[in-house]
Amino acid sequence: MSKVALIRCGTYDIEDVRRAVKRGIDLLGGTARFADRGTRVLLKPNLLVGDVPEKCVNTHPSVFRAVAEQFIAVGATVTWGDSPAIGSSTAAAKKSGILSVSEELNIGEADFRTGVEVFFEKGRQNKKFIIAKAVTDNDVVISLPKMKTHGFEKLTGAVKNQFGCVPGVRKGEYHIKLPDPDSFAQMLVDLNNLVNPMLYVMDGIWAMEGNGPRGGKPRKMNLLLFSDDPIALDATVCRLIHIDPHYVPTIIFGHQSGSGTFLESEIELLGDDIAGLKQTDFDVERAPLKAYQMKGILRFVKNRLVPKPYIIEDKCISCGVCVTMCPTVPKSVDWFKGDKTRPPAHNYQTCIRCFCCQEVCPESAILLKVPLLRRIFSGV
Ligand code: SF4
Ligand code: SF4
Repeated sequence: MSKVALIRCGTYDIEDVRRAVKRGIDLLGGTARFADRGTRVLLKPNLLVGDVPEKCVNTHPSVFRAVAEQFIAVGATVTWGDSPAIGSSTAAAKKSGILSVSEELNIGEADFRTGVEVFFEKGRQNKKFIIAKAVTDNDVVISLPKMKTHGFEKLTGAVKNQFGCVPGVRKGEYHIKLPDPDSFAQMLVDLNNLVNPMLYVMDGIWAMEGNGPRGGKPRKMNLLLFSDDPIALDATVCRLIHIDPHYVPTIIFGHQSGSGTFLESEIELLGDDIAGLKQTDFDVERAPLKAYQMKGILRFVKNRLVPKPYIIEDKCISCGVCVTMCPTVPKSVDWFKGDKTRPPAHNYQTCIRCFCCQEVCPESAILLKVPLLRRIFSGV
């Protein structure tokens, strides 16, 4: 049986979060089960971009602090790091509040800029990765994901949090190489198995629903989740917000690859009762992805089944971040005739639907439109 601890916590008040974190980790056997004196522990928060905590884009600094304190208390040597989608990790950490906490606790930033080539024999989709040196420099990784929606994989959960272990712009190369959600999810599972965090602590006190992982709305979920099984944890999130776990590719491939289980009969829930924590009207895409994952599908059909990113021109400030981040050559979102005073335009003939543009837009000006045909097919 895999164990997932659900701990109700309604605020980011540090005393409340400390109590919740201690209770959750204790239910899984206590901090000493994961590290002891001298263990080099790397904390991997979700630090997607530099945004303030109220936007619910990143792991909240109170959760980061409470987990760090637990490991410092057992004598571990703690560092932290992530590779954001855009900008430097230090700048993102400063805006998110994580940098000031790490300075107060005197824990250093680990090296996520230098990439190390690692061969991973057990990989199913990918056997060779360039990962952050920090991962290989430490004994234990503790993953601190944020509960959020995601345009490409439905959820930014425990498994996907480790995509930040790929340094900088190399992340875009995976989108080019693996343009469909299934193959990308399989790669994420391989990467997660390689990084192999020993413990996942998910910040779901305030989650993000809707246009995640950056442009969605904060949603109060009032809980922290704890597990050493990322698949069980992500499947439990699905049950909390009413998505069928079968429709989340990282869950299915993770289960198949032996990373964990999504079966309710194999997951023991600890802590607070899940019934009182469920929010079934959570705004998330519930339709299955399978409708457009048939091999050899015609572009004509694909364009009518796959969600499209589109720009709300009134919200766009013409910053060009989406153009910079688009991984295709030529760019599939670009300035119309080079005019940088107007919103960029999408080219759906070349767009691979990786949704990186939607992910990074600082103004939440890019939304995903689900085509009518897909809504009819999926019936959700
Ligand atoms: S990132 Fe967003 S705000 Fe910036 S140009 Fe693109 S659509 Fe406009
Ligand atoms: S336009 Fe957006 S969704 Fe399309 S390939 Fe570029 S970044 Fe990805």
